[in-house]
Amino acid sequence: MVILLGHSPTMFCICRPDLVDSAFMEPTTPILEVCGLAKTYRSRRQEVPALADFNLRVGAGEIVGLLGPNGAGKTTSVKMIMGLMHPSAGEILYRGRRLEVADLRRGIGFLPENFRPNPNLTVAEYLRLHCELTGAQTAGPEQVGELLAQVGMAPYAERRISDLSKGMGQRVGLAQAFAGDPDFLILDEPTSGLDPIGKSEVIDFLLRAKARGKTIFFCSHILSEVEKVCDRIGILVRGELRYLGPVAEFLQKWQVADLEEAFKKEVQCVPS
Ligand code: ATP
Repeated sequence: MVILLGHSPTMFCICRPDLVDSAFMEPTTPILEVCGLAKTYRSRRQEVPALADFNLRVGAGEIVGLLGPNGAGKTTSVKMIMGLMHPSAGEILYRGRRLEVADLRRGIGFLPENFRPNPNLTVAEYLRLHCELTGAQTAGPEQVGELLAQVGMAPYAERRISDLSKGMGQRVGLAQAFAGDPDFLILDEPTSGLDPIGKSEVIDFLLRAKARGKTIFFCSHILSEVEKVCDRIGILVRGELRYLGPVAEFLQKWQVADLEEAFKKEVQCVPS
């Protein structure tokens, strides 16, 4: 089978999944560069190491998925990348420079873990507000309808956020991440709380976004969805990035055909 990988002219290539070379795949025009990122929490006078020496480059047009068991440090890394938390060490560069507030408002779409918008607004009011905040020319009242349709929430535009089910709320979260048509998306468990149809709709949504040249970095526990959409995966176990590269190479590393099996082997080989 022949597949197309990458999007930008610099990394566009045709290759067979079994012959993918991770060195060749290393992106040349990074949207995001994370160097030596580390975090140690202080909780009740105890130190809790959450992330150590985390290095990552995400190239334009790539989808990179971060996998890891509970407590591996995925949300911690996302929060630091988004500037919501100070790292204990390391550097984060967005398009080769430090992240600015304007980037967070306009260039980067973000879906946090446990997304909780203002419960008193209707879905349409919330998204309209969010579109206006991005300040982008593409953001306007007409975009609200488009965003709602894309996440299957058009029938619920006038429903109050407080009256949404968990999965509906998650769909609104995805819609707000895409408000203003950002080029780069950071999504913390985008399919969390969604039913199977919702999950597969989100996968299609991400693939369409990729086809439009969007760059996406996301965390997930759902191995099958990661397998379907990611150019590269990162495997984080107890704060250590154990693997970063194409799925095919990760399967090869463990000599198995199934991502779940490879994932289990990787996690089990890390001493507790
Ligand atoms: P999950 O898949 O369960 O969402 P995760 O990979 O996102 O997990 P994190 O939430 O980043 O993991 O947590 C990494 C580690 O940091 C865990 O040991 C967690 O208990 C710890 N941790 C996270 N937030 C804090 C905090 N505010 N104070 C102390 N420790 C924390």
